[in-house]
Amino acid sequence: MSMSIFLFFVIACSSQPTTIDLALTNGHVYTKDGLQQTLYINNGLVIETPSSTVEILKEINLEGKFILPSFHDAHTHLLAGAFVFDKLLLVGAMNMNTIRLRVKEYVNTSPGVPWVVGYGWIKSAIDAPTGIELDEVSGDYPVALFDSAGHSVLVNSKAMEIAGITADTPAPDGGIIHRDSNGNPTGFLQEAAIELISPLMVSQFSSDQLSSNLLSQISEFHQAGITSVSEILAVPGVNLTFPELYHQYEDLQFRVAYYVPLFAITELSTVESFIGDQSEWVHFEGVKLWIDGSSGSGESWSIEESDIEENHYGSQYFDTEELIKVVAHAETHQYNLKLHVNGDAAVRSALEALEYVQQSNGILNQEYLFEHAVLIAPSDYDRIYNLGITVSIQPAHALVGIYGDQADHWQDERIDRAWDFPALEAAELNIAMGTDWPVWPTVDGLTNWQTATEGLQSRNLKTLTVFNGYTSQGRTTSGLGHVGLNVGQEADFIVLDGNPFEVSPNTISLQETWVKGMRVY
Ligand SMILES: [Zn+2]
Repeated sequence: MSMSIFLFFVIACSSQPTTIDLALTNGHVYTKDGLQQTLYINNGLVIETPSSTVEILKEINLEGKFILPSFHDAHTHLLAGAFVFDKLLLVGAMNMNTIRLRVKEYVNTSPGVPWVVGYGWIKSAIDAPTGIELDEVSGDYPVALFDSAGHSVLVNSKAMEIAGITADTPAPDGGIIHRDSNGNPTGFLQEAAIELISPLMVSQFSSDQLSSNLLSQISEFHQAGITSVSEILAVPGVNLTFPELYHQYEDLQFRVAYYVPLFAITELSTVESFIGDQSEWVHFEGVKLWIDGSSGSGESWSIEESDIEENHYGSQYFDTEELIKVVAHAETHQYNLKLHVNGDAAVRSALEALEYVQQSNGILNQEYLFEHAVLIAPSDYDRIYNLGITVSIQPAHALVGIYGDQADHWQDERIDRAWDFPALEAAELNIAMGTDWPVWPTVDGLTNWQTATEGLQSRNLKTLTVFNGYTSQGRTTSGLGHVGLNVGQEADFIVLDGNPFEVSPNTISLQETWVKGMRVY
């Protein structure tokens, strides 16, 4: 080796840089080794304390503030939310009168909209709603109003006419078309039947508008302390699988691990076209599939029949045999699965499929998340633990579920076991947390933290569970384990004026959000 090459080699390998970008001093920085005073960042990465000869290019005095890793929302529908949030908001609407009035007002004040699209009415609060009740107030406009869970839609006669929904239209697999005593559709569609109208409706809105809504939503997430999301690109019956929209905004310092929706086994091959889609900020992480319907609609797939409706066990989209095919496909093609399991029968079916593939392959290599997992049979906790499954929960859902009486087909003993978050902790399960935005309308990280630790009565979670659930646990299951506050990680963090491990999160304000060493809020 010549001397010059040798010298080059020595210089290139010396790990200590002569300058570093940033030091945040005089704070309390939360790391895996405890609280530290100073956070050093170079090239967007957290670095170790540099030697005293290193020049620090910029220094910020934290004046005693707290630095925590920023939040990760492990379950969100950002694009779907961006789609509905500039439309007719019906959040909290609990009767048809309110809905009719809002539609009437919207029609009068929004001339020229292609469709009247609304979102947020509370399905469980309204007995036998119909879309044809909207005809008298909707003029010539087609109307589609989604409930808060996104699993039900009310459509008026005009919308049904455009979609060709008549007395002769059969309900698609996993879908319900409600009808009157003569068999005529009443304009109330549930679950997979939503897709009879949604592609027609979605195609009427420009992607420019959706883009600009998306941008404002991302800045709201930054403001809420969230710098990365596990994004589910739609809900049953509404396909908004447009990851290219995120790729348009690679410079927004927002990380998206997206999951492609799967509503039927026949769509499995379409997943393959997304495999390998990966940039620094946006990547395909896996597939979300709905094994059952939603508890808010009384459609969780349950082991025992409904307490209020004979012979009703909820909606089931996949059987165990089909699930085995999906799990085997995920293992072969190396992507992760988010499994929507609300009811105990859905949980059990997923377990059977996972155990089957594990036994035949000898191992499960991919990440599996149980989304919601509202009701789990007591004997199944150990099985979840043994398979290393992460349970992905939305603590605020319990507010409308258990305490707001929305689990309308479980009562008494089962309702006592539903949303039993402490039981997940007791079983030592991995827990990731999210908002399910816009199903839950608040994204603010500290508010949701407080709800989870203080707002759920006997179902309150431990502070450490909530912290891990909104940070590392969600990230590691979404291919974002390189983000955080430990040495070598990309520095995404928030600056707080108090320590949520010591005082109530509602007494703390979030003052800054940073992504990869850059301030974004
Ligand atoms: Zn969701």
